[in-house]
Amino acid sequence: MTDVTPGAARPFLTAAASGGPRGDWDRYFLTLAEAAATRSTCTNRQVGAVIVKDRHTVATGYNGGPRSYGHCNEGACPRSNTGAATGFDYSDCIAIHAEANAILFSSPADRQGATLYTSTFPCWECAKLLANSGIAEVVAHATYDGHDRVKTFLQDAGLRVRVHATPA
Ligand SMILES: [Zn+2]
Ligand SMILES: [Zn+2]
Repeated sequence: MTDVTPGAARPFLTAAASGGPRGDWDRYFLTLAEAAATRSTCTNRQVGAVIVKDRHTVATGYNGGPRSYGHCNEGACPRSNTGAATGFDYSDCIAIHAEANAILFSSPADRQGATLYTSTFPCWECAKLLANSGIAEVVAHATYDGHDRVKTFLQDAGLRVRVHATPA
């Protein structure tokens, strides 16, 4: 996937931007996370994340290859090039996940006690980073099969976790 039409792939983003009732803060920041996701260069799933503290955006991130290296959708990713099946060989992917990039782009002081908004529930690897990041809360939009285990891990690590389903 090299391009995404927000209206087609992200009904949540379209709904929030279409002049409907004024959204709440969760909707606002999840919409920003969805907007960040549209910058992703992942060939499988575009994800965006935003770190928010005191209702201010501290950092944003999306999943993509390391700076100056190349992108999964431009031939730089061994995993993409071999057509690995969903759920397999993620360690072969060069992409840095959205949550990890958002953490990298923030300072420890910035993210202490902050909330991370993400368009898709964090994976296991990102959950471990989050648990040691100082971030106090995770708010996710979409989920995936098996995310409950990661959710329990985050909660056991002392983070608050909330999930918003896509509004109808
Ligand atoms: Zn990749
Ligand atoms: Zn991840």
